Amino acid sequence: MDNPGRRGILRPMDTVIIGGGLNGSALALALAGAGLDVTLVERLAPDIRTDPEFDGRGYALAHASARLLRAIGIWNAVADNAQPILQIKVSDGRAGEGPSPLSLLFDGAEVEESPLGYMLEDRYLRRALQEALDAAPNVTQITGTDVTGHEVTEANATVTLSDGRTLTAKMIVGADGMASPTAQRAGIGRMGWSYSQTSFSCAIAHDRPHHGIAHQFFMPPGPLGILPLKGNRSSIVWTEDEAAAARISTLDDDAYIAMLRPRIGDYLGDFRLEGKRFAYPVPLSIAHRFAAPRVALVGDAAHRVHPLAGQGLNAGLKDVGALAEVLVTAARRGEDIGRLDVLDRYERWRRFDVAALALATDGVNRLFSNDNTLLRMGRDLGLGVINALPGLRRTLMREAAGVTGDVPRLLQGRPI
Ligand SMILES: Cc1cc2nc3c(=O)[nH]c(=O)nc-3n(C[C@H](O)[C@H](O)[C@H](O)COP(=O)(O)OP(=O)(O)OC[C@H]3O[C@@H](n4cnc5c(N)ncnc54)[C@H](O)[C@@H]3O)c2cc1C
Repeated sequence: MDNPGRRGILRPMDTVIIGGGLNGSALALALAGAGLDVTLVERLAPDIRTDPEFDGRGYALAHASARLLRAIGIWNAVADNAQPILQIKVSDGRAGEGPSPLSLLFDGAEVEESPLGYMLEDRYLRRALQEALDAAPNVTQITGTDVTGHEVTEANATVTLSDGRTLTAKMIVGADGMASPTAQRAGIGRMGWSYSQTSFSCAIAHDRPHHGIAHQFFMPPGPLGILPLKGNRSSIVWTEDEAAAARISTLDDDAYIAMLRPRIGDYLGDFRLEGKRFAYPVPLSIAHRFAAPRVALVGDAAHRVHPLAGQGLNAGLKDVGALAEVLVTAARRGEDIGRLDVLDRYERWRRFDVAALALATDGVNRLFSNDNTLLRMGRDLGLGVINALPGLRRTLMREAAGVTGDVPRLLQGRPI
């Protein structure tokens, strides 16, 4: 379905964004808000994407991501459903044994950027983005349509759609997820590997309150995140090795909850499944380049990291903030926004941060996802040591909040 207000307008655009997931949608709003003309092409129809059961994820949004959502005008639409994260507890543990005695507590009360972040369910975020896109005057949405090809020339980029139409723009953005056909067509390869793990995601309703505390238990097969949602509800991100995951996938809901019980323990009281269960593969996948002539990549198309730190979307929204700022600044200076020297500014801005995130999540997963006694003692000690160093704890909290380094204006809550 095309956006009715803009149907059939196939004049040259500033940008065609391929992929209307969370990052593609946020980027369209950021660019349009600064006056650029944007066409957003998404293969799924809007009613599929706004179905409350479309994606079971809840996202831990860093402080800086919440600021970006405010700056692109959607925070008010989601704020009532965003649960503040007041504390994060990190511990080592085994199913049925509870957490190890040495754990690490991040307390939002110790830093200026409090709360530490927000938990927001996909269904609320996606709906708010869609409503804002529908209302945005300079966004043309083409949905239920695939991009099947693109070509770039010295002067512009041309995108071919599955219905045979073509769109011309100064540049195109691949926001088309980890498989990114846009990156493939641009000749951008990827590095990475599979962790041979699967992350299960679901929401649970429980008898006792969570007090806004997020828990990360590192179990030998993989981490278990128990993340507070509004009300007496939590989002579960439960990672298992592939063999166990294959068995868990076949369980009915009662057996699934029975397996979760010893892993979560009793601090939330009795709990039950709320809504559907989802499963996601867990690879590391980083594009060799985030930019090519007249092409830029954002979000999972540029990088997919382990969900253990809840940073994937946050990193994508940083891409959005950085790319929007580079493109809008270049457009205002009268530069050709598709030129590689312009897009290289974006690549340079984001590359190091993404590499650091990939290294950190990869290292933590390898260190914690095993039952080696020596490593276990070492990491418990490590957690205890970090816990005893308030300065280091505060630095880590500010890193996770996304407020350190060269932060794009939108992630500071400022317009471009
Ligand atoms: C279990 C789990 C928990 C997570 N928790 C968190 C968290 O707490 N915090 C956090 O920050 N991140 C989290 N993440 C990461 C986060 O979910 C992703 O980084 C984010 O959703 C990626 O969004 P995207 O828009 O880049 O890509 P996608 O969601 O993959 O969107 C790509 C879009 O492109 C469209 N598309 C693809 N090809 C074409 C084509 N040829 N033509 C037209 N359209 C096309 C697709 O239909 C899709 O809509 C988690 C991930 C997992 C797996």
